[in-house]
Amino acid sequence: MGDGVEDLAAYAKDQGAEGYDVHEVRVCSCASCGHQVFGVQGDLEECAVQRTCRGCGAEHFIADSGEYWDVMTPAVMVCECDGDGDEEDFNVAVGYSLYDDNAGVRAIAVTSRCVACGRLGYWVDWMVRTGDLDLLDLA
Ligand SMILES: [Zn+2]
Ligand SMILES: [Zn+2]
Repeated sequence: MGDGVEDLAAYAKDQGAEGYDVHEVRVCSCASCGHQVFGVQGDLEECAVQRTCRGCGAEHFIADSGEYWDVMTPAVMVCECDGDGDEEDFNVAVGYSLYDDNAGVRAIAVTSRCVACGRLGYWVDWMVRTGDLDLLDLA
């Protein structure tokens, strides 16, 4: 259980990404309004996650998730605390495993905290293998 986004960030760091150490964690904040509560949808088999701001409705693809979104079959993420299938509210944090000397992003992992019950969850991780550190700003 996590009391807030600090606990979520610590969780994301501890969990790693694709088995590698996580070096940087970004707690997701809406670029438009600054809210930190989101609905989450994704295609976990294809490794893509989109978050929707509960404050203003802005949609954002996490890291490189948007590249193949057109061929994805995203599902709405729900928490165990609510079995009725309604969309739930999450804080979201992205863990980044970096290459030596911060030469790029090796892998990322998407984690969340259910706002209703505090449950910390690990949605998906995937290999990125890019030298593009801009992904750190696309959590
Ligand atoms: Zn917003
Ligand atoms: Zn919950």
